[in-house]
Amino acid sequence: MPLMEPYRIKAVEPIPITTREHRERALAAAGYNPFNLSAADVTIDLLSDSGTGALSADQQAAGLRGDESYAGARSFFRFREVVEELTGYPHLFPVHQGRAAERILFNALLKPGQLSVSNTHFDTTRANVELVGAVALDLPCAEAKDLDSYSPFKGDIDLEALQRVLSGPDEVGLVIMTITNNGGGGQPVSMANLEAVARLTREHGVPFFLDAARFAENAWLVTQREPGYADRTPRQVAQEAFALADGCVASLKKDGIVHMGGLLAMRDPELAKRCELLLIATEGFRTYGGLSGRDLEMLAQGLVEVTDPAYLRSRAEQTAYLAELIADVGVDSVRPAGVHALYLNAGRLLPHIPPSRFPGHALAQEMYLAGGIRCAELGSLYLGELDESGELITPAPYELVRMAIPRRVYTKSHLEYVAETLGEIAKRPERVPGYRLVEVPALLRHFNCRLEPC
Ligand SMILES: *Cc1c(COP(=O)(O)O)cnc(C)c1O
Repeated sequence: MPLMEPYRIKAVEPIPITTREHRERALAAAGYNPFNLSAADVTIDLLSDSGTGALSADQQAAGLRGDESYAGARSFFRFREVVEELTGYPHLFPVHQGRAAERILFNALLKPGQLSVSNTHFDTTRANVELVGAVALDLPCAEAKDLDSYSPFKGDIDLEALQRVLSGPDEVGLVIMTITNNGGGGQPVSMANLEAVARLTREHGVPFFLDAARFAENAWLVTQREPGYADRTPRQVAQEAFALADGCVASLKKDGIVHMGGLLAMRDPELAKRCELLLIATEGFRTYGGLSGRDLEMLAQGLVEVTDPAYLRSRAEQTAYLAELIADVGVDSVRPAGVHALYLNAGRLLPHIPPSRFPGHALAQEMYLAGGIRCAELGSLYLGELDESGELITPAPYELVRMAIPRRVYTKSHLEYVAETLGEIAKRPERVPGYRLVEVPALLRHFNCRLEPC
């Protein structure tokens, strides 16, 4: 069947159609930082796939059944039933979003000086590891370094390196696998890799958790790419992945297809007791953990819908289709296409802009100016090392732009518009200017910095 969205649209939200003059003014007022733009000035918003998905009619209906009792709400038990069926973990806590689960777990589990080892820690995950005085160590596999290779599981961890680290001398407090690997181009992790991690961590007595924000998208790619999994449903694959680990943290703003929500779940009853105390002190009672009954109901329904093969197929095909369209207009992206986002190779498209003038950021600015498209840089502005005045000391390994695709929000024609806009830019890339920082906050600079073209 040709690519088509497996749903029709029941409620619409008009999108702002603006002129280039309007966008030039808006971007200058935003200090050339897309995080400072008002959404009312954005035509196609690809800044994040987090909390930006469209609810289904069944989710909205479930929301109306939300039980808002302070403790023991029916909605919690519905949520628990779905999460238990999916993960098999007996101890589970709702939290308001993924980073709350990270903070609680790491406070209960990690000791100062211990290592947390991952295929790649997501940025909030790394921050929460460091906040408890532990050290975050990323061990991506060698294939991840080649942006152009079509290797199917570039999200895997380097097993030899993991084995070495587990053998000491440093104490490893946790191994956490991010599925799919958001920090590493949205690439999937194979079941073979997860099985090996489970075996190694069991041998060394180290807890093994999943950062499962995109568990369904990872499962879909396993059914498509890993030998032996073609006949499994995505739900079965996801259940097998959870079964390999001792627990998970998850931002349910991604594969929960809700606007707010997260999950912390585990097998160890003693660890669960410690987590519960922190949960009650900082998030809420164990049957709501920072969410309303309405949220819990919509999540329970979203966690069922997200493993529907028709939905996952169409979502993966959308992203692959956009990857082909932009390749046709001469723009490279990280290969093979994942599901939740495409990562444009801005360094290659704009060779006249040195890393110190932020080619990824420059391309993101141009996409906004040319078409009102908002996306985020993942290059030297975000990941490079800067001095106090904002001059680059060490560049990032790659100069990328992430185009995240919200769930069930944009249609094929919106994606074609994005590709056409990129095509216009790619006709005369040499006209795209670089950028210089004019205001550099000490912390989380990409959210608050201001720049100017140069
Ligand atoms: C989004 C995300 C998080 C953090 O979750 P929030 O809900 O934004 O707090 C953690 N890990 C991964 C892989 C994510 O994508």
